[in-house]
Amino acid sequence: MLRASFLYLSHRRGLQRFVTRQRLTAALAYRFVAGDRLDDAVRVVTDLNRHGFTASLDHLGENVNEEKAARAAADDYLAAFERIATDRLNANVSVKLTQLGLDISSDLCRDLLTRILQRAQQLDNFVRIDMEGSAYTQRTLELVLELHREYPNCGVVLQSYLYRTIDDVGRVNAARVRVRLVKGAYDEPASVAFPKKVDVDAKFEAEMQQLLLEGSYPAIATHDDRLIEATRRFARARNIAPDRFEFQMLYGIRRDLQDRLLREGYRVRIYVPYGTEWYPYLMRRLAERPANLLFIVRSLIRERRAA
Ligand SMILES: Cc1cc2nc3c(=O)[nH]c(=O)nc-3n(C[C@H](O)[C@H](O)[C@H](O)COP(=O)(O)OP(=O)(O)OC[C@H]3O[C@@H](n4cnc5c(N)ncnc54)[C@H](O)[C@@H]3O)c2cc1C
Repeated sequence: MLRASFLYLSHRRGLQRFVTRQRLTAALAYRFVAGDRLDDAVRVVTDLNRHGFTASLDHLGENVNEEKAARAAADDYLAAFERIATDRLNANVSVKLTQLGLDISSDLCRDLLTRILQRAQQLDNFVRIDMEGSAYTQRTLELVLELHREYPNCGVVLQSYLYRTIDDVGRVNAARVRVRLVKGAYDEPASVAFPKKVDVDAKFEAEMQQLLLEGSYPAIATHDDRLIEATRRFARARNIAPDRFEFQMLYGIRRDLQDRLLREGYRVRIYVPYGTEWYPYLMRRLAERPANLLFIVRSLIRERRAA
């Protein structure tokens, strides 16, 4: 119920304007977001690299409906790649296709993504295409499979809550496209996605196994202790070395688990979002764990007492 409410609110532009101006919600957002500027993200990634983590930079933004904004987003990613190279960061980038104008025109989106992939290839780097709501799944997969033939330095995200994903895993593995497996963060109807968490978790485990056996350097992206343990157990049982896959987690979530996996010799990549367009991202993080709201309530109480 709360999950659906937060995901519904994530699309409300009017509320976005109000919420992003509030000091407390901004404080909450910056638990999950590196800061407003690329410099902030670079600082965070430098520190993560020093500790042994790799990173994926996400310049926040989605569902862009003006061509100018889509072109600006592509320029921002090009700037991020230059900065990764000059600062010698161990990082790649994650991109959303609706940020590159997928809602405006597929051609525009393809052109902008191609520019980013070309530059990434010259710099020997990698672009991960995030997966958005199910309305975009087919188009995202088609575009990635098409561009991957010329630019093998791109990969995609598959969401285990979708019924279709078990088949997509086979298709994408056959094309040797790198996959990040996630549970899925959007509000989907029962006609396309498993409504029950227990079913999503079971599919995640099955798809993780398929990716470890047949995939191309898969990324297992979850903070779920049980599924992480299942991944480690499966890899050990099948003699899949820890350098043949990586775990991925979100900046600011389960740092204890991130540290532990790293200490145990696993590769861990942290997804580092930055930028001012954090509202929908924050709403999805609240939907995953409404208890995050307690942070706001506690801060409010503290402020009242201090006043
Ligand atoms: C690197 C990365 C990239 C992602 N990219 C995409 C994408 O492209 N498309 C997409 O749809 N989804 C994406 N997601 C989000 C994903 O779909 C899930 O919504 C998210 O990871 C929460 O699910 P979980 O696997 O951690 O399991 P859950 O069962 O939701 O959570 C397991 C445990 O993790 C902790 N936890 C989880 N979420 C939070 C939170 N918000 N705040 C605090 N603690 C939390 C809690 O301790 C919880 O008990 C991504 C996730 C990661 C880690």
